[in-house]
Amino acid sequence: MTGRVVVLTGGVGGAKLVLGLAQILSAEKITAIVNTGDDFQHFGLHISPDIDTLLYTLSGRANIAQGWGREGESWSFMSALRSLAAEDWFQLGDGDLALHVLRSHALAQGHALSNVTAGFAAAWNLQTHILPMSDQPVSTILTTNEGELGFQDYFVRLRCAPKVNAIRFQGAGTAKPAPGVLDAILDARTAAILIAPSNPFLSIDPILAVPGIAAALSAASAPVIAVSPIIGGQAVKGPTAKLMRERGLAVTPAAIAAHYAGVINGLLIDWRDAPCDPQCPFATADTLMVSLADRARVAKAALDLAARLGAK
Ligand code: GDP
Repeated sequence: MTGRVVVLTGGVGGAKLVLGLAQILSAEKITAIVNTGDDFQHFGLHISPDIDTLLYTLSGRANIAQGWGREGESWSFMSALRSLAAEDWFQLGDGDLALHVLRSHALAQGHALSNVTAGFAAAWNLQTHILPMSDQPVSTILTTNEGELGFQDYFVRLRCAPKVNAIRFQGAGTAKPAPGVLDAILDARTAAILIAPSNPFLSIDPILAVPGIAAALSAASAPVIAVSPIIGGQAVKGPTAKLMRERGLAVTPAAIAAHYAGVINGLLIDWRDAPCDPQCPFATADTLMVSLADRARVAKAALDLAARLGAK
């Protein structure tokens, strides 16, 4: 493929696909639009977990075995915190902390999140364009059987145990797409727009909730292809399947296709799952991404489906 590719993504699951794309395309042709609904303030620091996951993954700094954080991380700050009897439910490694401190400092001086993110990417020589969905704060809030919870309270502190009744994206109504987001989607050189196999409810819906992004996806000439996060009737990790069951949905690619109806033009599903409604064009592949070659294979399968469907 000679065109550019835009990918909407959350953290770990999505970063796998973006890394796969970077194996088969030159990095400067890839624009990742990243969920910031998980962003939060902790000890006065601004933490952007999904952006950092992308930065660590693409720069080879991610701890792949652990599934989050940095490779070779040290933990002096956490030990010092514990010695002071401070809350320790959110792990902050020493290297990770450097990003949070620099980001918080830059934001306090009036810099935009998109500029700070571009600065980190440039420092690590990353050519992939990593854009937050918005420079304005958007917070994912879950209404659960244990009351209203912020995303990190639900995801990290309570390990996704509460039953979720509703999810809202506070601030999304007045947020604007970050600079470059709409241009990348609408760029005539963009040949494919991918929705990574990220959590549809917690990672992709916040991006689609920023006014203007869903409309740009419909107006784009490039086809929009989602990669199903479901493999063999289960999520690979995280609460996607649990959230689907709590909504009364079957844990199937067909339910993913229905969730994205009106947004996507095609869905890449795993060969272990039953084919979905023929109304949503789909392709089948082994979508489990364990190795780097797997990541490249899934990225190629998604781009092949986009090429098969062609411009809208
Ligand atoms: P988080 O922000 O770190 O929770 O990660 P994401 O929202 O980006 O991704 C979580 C989703 O990725 C889960 O629903 C997983 O099922 C999905 N996922 C993770 N690894 C894979 C994989 O190898 N293949 C597919 N198809 N989905 C995956």
